[in-house]
Amino acid sequence: MPAIINNIADALHLQSQTRAFDSKVTVIFVLGGPGAGKGTQCARLVEDFGFCHLSAGDLLRAEQHREGSEYGQLIQTCIKEGSIVPMEVTVKLLENAMKVALQEQRSGDGWTDGQGRFLIDGFPRKLDQAEKFEHDVGKATAVLFFSTTEEVMLERLLERGKTSGREDDNVESIKKRFNTYKEQSMPVIENYEKLGKVIEIDSSFSIEKVHQQTKSAVANLLS
Ligand code: ADP
Ligand code: AMP
Repeated sequence: MPAIINNIADALHLQSQTRAFDSKVTVIFVLGGPGAGKGTQCARLVEDFGFCHLSAGDLLRAEQHREGSEYGQLIQTCIKEGSIVPMEVTVKLLENAMKVALQEQRSGDGWTDGQGRFLIDGFPRKLDQAEKFEHDVGKATAVLFFSTTEEVMLERLLERGKTSGREDDNVESIKKRFNTYKEQSMPVIENYEKLGKVIEIDSSFSIEKVHQQTKSAVANLLS
């Protein structure tokens, strides 16, 4: 083989070696504004297809409350302010959670012979996170994008806030979260749109109707 081919082959090999997970692991990013219904639909998809659902927000809240965490205060401030937690923290939490899920050696569709299937919910929320994850952890197969209006999201979040106990389900934090979403997270979705990876679902309808559309889109993706 000519030297140049050798070098390209080496480079490609090295590139794939730097990722924690190979192509046997299916990763679907789940995006949309706060309150769009990401978590609700992910729970349904777990039932339908045996996904492991990892919510970046849930992982961050768990880390915030973990005794001895050096990031507790930082995470709390970011969540209250609706701002983005530094990617080093978020990507590491996701990578660790994926490793644990794969080590569990689950059974069923998508989990045999070293395979795995993940819904990564609320991530990536910023372009640098997307790049870091795809470089260090694994490639995204697709992006599920739940779209609806701010009015709908606000109403849902305020309703959720009556029982969620979350520090950010209040009008002041919600406005900041909407801004972060528009300024930092929409460019991520636009970027994946250019790559033809986005499946957009209008999540303004009932949970059941949104679920039917989502289920059929994901079934197509996995077939
Ligand atoms: P996200 O994960 O995108 O922040 P959630 O799934 O937590 O959003 O949904 C926010 C709130 O709206 C929850 O209280 C949920 O029960 C409710 N909800 C989700 N989807 C719908 C829907 N299609 N119609 C009405 N309420 C919904
Ligand atoms: P969520 O539970 O998805 O509504 O997220 C709640 C908050 O957690 C966000 O407003 C951010 O402060 C933080 N957060 C969630 N996901 C991410 C992420 N991918 N990157 C950085 N911060 C995040």
